[in-house]
Amino acid sequence: LSEKLDKALHVLKGHGSITEVNVAETLKEVRRALLDADVNFKIAKNFTNTVKEKALGQDVLTTLQPGQLMVKIVKDELTQLMGGDAEGINLSGNPSVILMSGLQGSGKTTFSGKLANYLKTKKTKKPLLVACDVYRPAAIDQLHVVGDQINVEVYSDKGNQDPVAIAQAGIAHAKANGHNVVIIDTAGRLAVDEAMMTEISNIHNAIQPQETLFVVDSMTGQDAVNTAKAFNDVLNFDGVILTKLDGDTRGGAAISIKSVVDKPIKFIGTGEKMEAIDVFYPARMADRILGMGDVVSLVERAQEQYDEKEARKLQKKIAKNQFGFDDFLNQIQQIKKMGNMKDLVGMIPGAGKMMKDIDIDDDAFKHIEAIIHSMTPKERTTPKMLNASRKKRIAKGSGTSVQEVNQLLKQFDQMSKMMKMMQGGKGKAMMQAMKN
Ligand code: GDP
Ligand code: MG
Repeated sequence: LSEKLDKALHVLKGHGSITEVNVAETLKEVRRALLDADVNFKIAKNFTNTVKEKALGQDVLTTLQPGQLMVKIVKDELTQLMGGDAEGINLSGNPSVILMSGLQGSGKTTFSGKLANYLKTKKTKKPLLVACDVYRPAAIDQLHVVGDQINVEVYSDKGNQDPVAIAQAGIAHAKANGHNVVIIDTAGRLAVDEAMMTEISNIHNAIQPQETLFVVDSMTGQDAVNTAKAFNDVLNFDGVILTKLDGDTRGGAAISIKSVVDKPIKFIGTGEKMEAIDVFYPARMADRILGMGDVVSLVERAQEQYDEKEARKLQKKIAKNQFGFDDFLNQIQQIKKMGNMKDLVGMIPGAGKMMKDIDIDDDAFKHIEAIIHSMTPKERTTPKMLNASRKKRIAKGSGTSVQEVNQLLKQFDQMSKMMKMMQGGKGKAMMQAMKN
């Protein structure tokens, strides 16, 4: 999905001017991408219609950077579609009872463990896991294995075939032993059937949980929607857990489920380990689907800080070949004003992963600044005059080495060339440099 969307949005990102035809073409691509990600047809169509209306309403075509605005609208709308802010779990009961529902293999047992571990460590709760999958003895053992891993007690009653009775006994056990959260793991089947629905509904009615969660495998795509609807019709559940997001980056299920059942997605599962649990953030999911990092906020922040007038002055200097070290220093200060370097780099699409291991911090600029400060005004405007003895003096004055001075000169030279190349554009040399 992200590759396709990238392509679709690419047209808009670069373009200085956008025509209505252009917008329509792009929206068609966006829709196709959503459909490919198993997003329901109606939802995809509605989505692109809304984006189109918003785009026209905000006069995208007449703004300075229509592409960026368009990207922002698509992203905002996608975020909206998946729910506003992250929602937590209702822990008001004593004990708070959480019921898991979902098909077999969706990840209920695994997630029960993850949630218990999460509540234990993050919220200092004392959870109890209850094994209500009575059809497969192995399922009970599995929950015990999970419980042992995270050091959480598991209540089970092998041989008892009545899941309602086990659930009730489990809650009683929790009350008697000071557990303030009870997580009830249930049985699922490979497809929705009446027996399973009756059983989960009976458990639900008998124990009246504070929180009923529907667990769904994010890789099941379009089927996930039907399953979610069937469970919601019977249980009117409180939230959705989207598992196995590590295996497939498509966010289609997240979009569709939210639109069809209108229940918040609360957590995501991102692996088999007990720690592989994350609170669901719609905006982050939208980013992931769009595969563009936090481009929008990067652009917003950069625009806030970047002084248009300065940019124009700089452009003139570059054109006249007068770009010097003072301007270089100025540029560095501009970048620093925008915020922490690591944050900024992380927002550049694709760069996040690449730069993770490289240590960029504001200190990286300290040496550069020191070197420039040790130059005379004349040297700053005409770097060509820097001979060996001058370099030596500068290195000494700035507490660096001649090697570092040479390195900076080389960088400066490259940057000047790059800027000269870019002056044909809109003058936002710095922005361009960061985007490339
Ligand atoms: P249940 O039948 O609903 O209880 O599902 P299980 O919890 O037994 O999970 C089914 C399979 O999916 C197991 O092999 C789990 O290890 C695996 N699984 C569960 N959640 C995740 C996840 O978030 N990522 C990955 N990669 N595997 C998961
Ligand atoms: Mg299970």
